[in-house]
Amino acid sequence: MDRKAKAVVCREWGQPIQVETITVEGPKRDEITIKIGACGVCHSDQSATTGKIPYPAPLVLGHEAAGVVIEVGEGVTAFKEGDHVVSSFISMCGKCRQCVRGRPVLCENARKAMFTLPDGTVRTKGADGEDLNVFGACGVMAEYATMHVDNCVKVDDTIPMQNAALVGCAMMTGVGAVFNTAKVEPGSRTAVFGIGGVGLNAIQGCVTAGAEMIVAVDNNEKKLAMAREFGATHTVNISEVEDGARAVKKLTGGVDYAFECVGAGPVVEQAYKCLGRGGTAVVVGVSDPKDKTSITTLTLPADERVLKGSWLGSARPQYDFPRILGLYKAGKLKLDELVTRTYHIDDAPQAFDDMLAGKNARGVIIFE
Ligand code: NAD
Ligand code: ZN
Repeated sequence: MDRKAKAVVCREWGQPIQVETITVEGPKRDEITIKIGACGVCHSDQSATTGKIPYPAPLVLGHEAAGVVIEVGEGVTAFKEGDHVVSSFISMCGKCRQCVRGRPVLCENARKAMFTLPDGTVRTKGADGEDLNVFGACGVMAEYATMHVDNCVKVDDTIPMQNAALVGCAMMTGVGAVFNTAKVEPGSRTAVFGIGGVGLNAIQGCVTAGAEMIVAVDNNEKKLAMAREFGATHTVNISEVEDGARAVKKLTGGVDYAFECVGAGPVVEQAYKCLGRGGTAVVVGVSDPKDKTSITTLTLPADERVLKGSWLGSARPQYDFPRILGLYKAGKLKLDELVTRTYHIDDAPQAFDDMLAGKNARGVIIFE
């Protein structure tokens, strides 16, 4: 059935976001409709409003949500009404070469589900009946969302929605970059550039992995204080030093793993520069499509360095979302502390402003 839903929509790149009442159609084959309980505000949502992430407008934002299944489409067997689910902005078909080799974030069919559902259509309509695209095949910054089952993961229903939501992006991305992409070993020396929702999770991933040193790098003192609460052993305020990479190297002698959680070529360069011999720089931040970086080529072979990317923490969402929430329940990962402020959907513009001003670890929109 069709449902009216308040939703956060980008109507045009560069213009302020709008809270609108949209229509969310019921599920077709292999789809489910979810009543959203909570949705985190990620920097990637903001990047989609400027064209840095070039999803075409009009676009319903949101890709980090938890909710309850209220309607299932034909052929759905893995979900039933009442199940709690978390959105995955990666659509994983489970059958292509990448999925079967255990790399669902690289699913060959995922490109069909970037800003529509996998069949190229949407279930979201504006007031004039026009199609509204959906961020990452999700569009979950809304009271309801209809998604393909390949974008949904069933989770423990005892975990509060505002917490469970964050495993859909910030937590999976940050912790997964450490566990899955880098595979940090105990005793490693690490650095994290950019202490937002993603970077804080990279820090706590390093703590859980047993890193010896964790250097947090940001230009915001408040973020550096949060980093220490999450387990950073050292902090570098880049606005107070001439060269961030040199400062990290001075503290550590060169790190084994550096995580770039900002999304800018010059920061990627810094993350690569602060490596020690045999070090790996992991790029997590999403840069502008025209952004470039430069590295000293010789250090790649001579130091056996690695420069690699990480998408949704190299997740296998059906395995990793429950695994990470399990670590939270076991007291080994912080999650309550990540949600520094909750917002009503009408206050979504404030939530975006606060994210840009660096006020929150994560701001989360909650729905009744
Ligand atoms: P955020 O806005 O919450 O945090 C970014 C942090 O970077 C802020 O604390 C800011 O002060 C800091 N910063 C800005 N410029 C800096 C600089 N030059 N050096 C050091 N720190 C600097 O953002 P977020 O939601 O944590 O997202 C971080 C990045 O990760 C974004 O680019 C986002 O699009 C990307 N992202 C990637 C994935 C993925 O799958 N790879 C998933 C989610 C988000
Ligand atoms: Zn995100």
